[in-house]
Amino acid sequence: MLAKMMDRPLLISSLIAHAARWHGDQEIVTRTIDGPNHRYTWAEAEIRAKKFAQALQRLGVQQGERIGTLAWNTNRHVEAYYGIAGMGAVTHTINPRLFPEQLEYVVNHAEDTYLVIDTTFVDLVANLLPHAPKVKGVIVFAARDAMPDISRLRNPICYEDLIDGETGAMDWPVFDDNSAAALCYTSGTTGNPKGALYGHKSTIIHTLCEIAPDCMNLSARDAVMPVVPMFHVNAWGIPYATAAVGTKLVLPGRHLDGKSIYDLLTSEKVTFTAAVPTIWMMLLAHMNEIGGRLDDLDRVVIGGSACPRAMMEAFQNDYGVQVLHAWGMTEMSPLGTLNTPKAKHLDLPDVAKVDLQQSAGRPLFGVDMKIVDEEGRTLPNDGVATGELKVTGPWIIADYFNLDQKAAAHAEDGWFSTGDVCAIDPDGYIWITDRLKDVIKSGGEWISSIDLENIAVGHPKVAEAAAIGMPHPKWDERPLLVVVKTAKGQDLTKDEVLAYLDGKIAKWWTPDDVVFVEDLPHTATGKLSKLQLRERFKDYVLPTAS
Ligand code: ADP
Repeated sequence: MLAKMMDRPLLISSLIAHAARWHGDQEIVTRTIDGPNHRYTWAEAEIRAKKFAQALQRLGVQQGERIGTLAWNTNRHVEAYYGIAGMGAVTHTINPRLFPEQLEYVVNHAEDTYLVIDTTFVDLVANLLPHAPKVKGVIVFAARDAMPDISRLRNPICYEDLIDGETGAMDWPVFDDNSAAALCYTSGTTGNPKGALYGHKSTIIHTLCEIAPDCMNLSARDAVMPVVPMFHVNAWGIPYATAAVGTKLVLPGRHLDGKSIYDLLTSEKVTFTAAVPTIWMMLLAHMNEIGGRLDDLDRVVIGGSACPRAMMEAFQNDYGVQVLHAWGMTEMSPLGTLNTPKAKHLDLPDVAKVDLQQSAGRPLFGVDMKIVDEEGRTLPNDGVATGELKVTGPWIIADYFNLDQKAAAHAEDGWFSTGDVCAIDPDGYIWITDRLKDVIKSGGEWISSIDLENIAVGHPKVAEAAAIGMPHPKWDERPLLVVVKTAKGQDLTKDEVLAYLDGKIAKWWTPDDVVFVEDLPHTATGKLSKLQLRERFKDYVLPTAS
């Protein structure tokens, strides 16, 4: 028997329509690329998104066609998100930090027909175009009088001119909510980047979960600043979630240094923000220097890489900001787990609460998870057994975009293999040890590179640390710790680092060597690139191995 309920498709356009209709005076503030802050409202954003949708229709863009964006977190990028998906095409957000060959690969693989870009990326795109024959034109986010030199662009179009020619008087088209809405490629740490193709329905369900109290707990009383870029996994869904609840949205543009982030957080009275640990490292360093305060900021989501304990303690103890540790992936839209306490944890002593926060969180409703051993057998959720984490749910990819089945064999049995190794405790909190390919295998046992790194950065003279497994004749692999010193900690020695680790880790986890470097390699999403680091150290031999 079928239910007698309205069959309303869950479309992304309904989010901005809701924000415009019921929170129409709520502000969207953007730190512009080169100028002062730009301010307008959700109501104005929707009209401009509709104008852009009309302009795309006039250009002949069809349902399902991919439109690439190379842009920072700005109001125009928000308009593009809604204008493109709202008219039935697919917003392909492109990470400008990809290597040139990867950029070329993703634009061609996605078969983008138009690129919508910030002025910052004109040269990047001009160099790419000779290798991207399917791109028909480039829409530049600028007003006519601010257009850069576009002589090397194919069919360049000024965004403000383009939308000026439209009325914005249209109803958002209605179509199947299983249609594709957005496309994001992984940063391709091994092989070519792979595309996660998100749908309208999957995005709306993800949004509903994201705003819930045990997730980001967003409301119309918040002022939300996504520092996490809109060019990677839809800024963790924040441009959608903020529309759903009608929050003030604050967008940092391309200014991601500690001072700029601090200035915007305080001047716009931001209550909620989100980014990877690297960004927060810069903010905390800046605040330390100037004696900053965060009076309005209530909570900060830290994810994408494990959040070091020292960072958590700094936010919570020094600035009174609650840290929400989160784990997810491009392939998961991206939310998988988020760390909030249960009722039984509320009376724990402070130290035990922070202990619990070291976990990347517990499953959100909508994501199911399990850990398996090498034979694929399910392991117990006892907080001790570790295995590969598998996930399933309506906002997790069933398959990669346009890859043959063999390459995409990931979701064979209805479970997506994350490539992450963790333990799950009886309350569902996951304790990530490592990525499967980064775990250090010493004498048949595993050493967590993440744990070593997070503990090492707790030392005041350590700016950043990476642990990798190095070949060892007796133990198979032993840990090497590679450290970047802080500016003030240049006298740091190997013995000091090892003494600091002593007692905080099992004896047999102690790195066989500590090496100091000027910098560590990062991926396009700002994570440590262990692949490149291993490459740098391929001729290195541990003192214990010879
Ligand atoms: P990429 O494009 O680099 O793959 P993703 O954002 O998809 O970027 O990265 C997802 C991966 O990041 C996860 O599989 C996991 O290894 C790592 N990760 C994300 N959040 C956390 C966390 N809180 N703790 C540890 N690792 C994390």
